[in-house]
Amino acid sequence: MSQQSHEHERDRPTGADVLDRLAGDTCVQPTCDGTLDRQPFKGTDAVVCDDCGTPPVRVWEVADD
Ligand SMILES: [Zn+2]
Repeated sequence: MSQQSHEHERDRPTGADVLDRLAGDTCVQPTCDGTLDRQPFKGTDAVVCDDCGTPPVRVWEVADD
């Protein structure tokens, strides 16, 4: 996986932690059977459903305190 982001390549412990917890969960869509997978979404870290592509959470600039 190549991560070429430079704008958002900062410390983001809170966001990463949230994403780690969400990854592997089932999709938020009741009609979907997909699994949430960590991947960039529009240049930000996110988790999106690997089936329908729904991003339940996106992390932009996260203040870590
Ligand atoms: Zn889905």
